[in-house]
Amino acid sequence: MSNFAEKLCIAGRVMFEKRLTDMCGGNISIRDGDTVYMSPRFAGQRYHWDLPVEAIVTGNWKEDDIALNPNFSREGWSHLYIYRNFPDVQAVVHAHPFHVMPFVAFGLPIEPVLEGTHKFGTVELCAPAAAHTKDLGVNIIAALQGKEDKMRKQAAACLIPEHGIILAGQDFDKTLDALERIDVNAYCLTVRKSLLG
Ligand SMILES: [Zn+2]
Repeated sequence: MSNFAEKLCIAGRVMFEKRLTDMCGGNISIRDGDTVYMSPRFAGQRYHWDLPVEAIVTGNWKEDDIALNPNFSREGWSHLYIYRNFPDVQAVVHAHPFHVMPFVAFGLPIEPVLEGTHKFGTVELCAPAAAHTKDLGVNIIAALQGKEDKMRKQAAACLIPEHGIILAGQDFDKTLDALERIDVNAYCLTVRKSLLG
């Protein structure tokens, strides 16, 4: 396995430790040429995000065959759709971050209130669709259209109603960094009323 698989394993542990995703799910991937490296099904529930490199699923992101792998993440279609629609994207991070979850639960966009999150703009919700479906992938693509400049700069993100967040970027580390920045921003919004009265 490559450095990319190792990178995903390390990132999964970091995300779980920092409560940027949970046992319920999330999935992360890196594209290298025609190959995509992706966290497996049940990365949270069974592996607790302590993934061995052998568990990383690889294949050609242009082909549907990768989805035949029994370990292909149920949420993997959204990743494939993003790679197929946005040629600059080389990293996708889907997660259930602790501080973002209230916003997706109640259908609230995340407006930037920190210098470090202004570049993402307001993170809006995509149209609802059931988890693990291709329809959700289509809705995510629609929500990310027009945000290609953000993908090239650091990452573009959208919220998935009652579910989580997905980010797409050119560089995996920058995309993961964006995830934490948006989670902290969400926390700031959550405590705004209690601090300001
Ligand atoms: Zn999810």
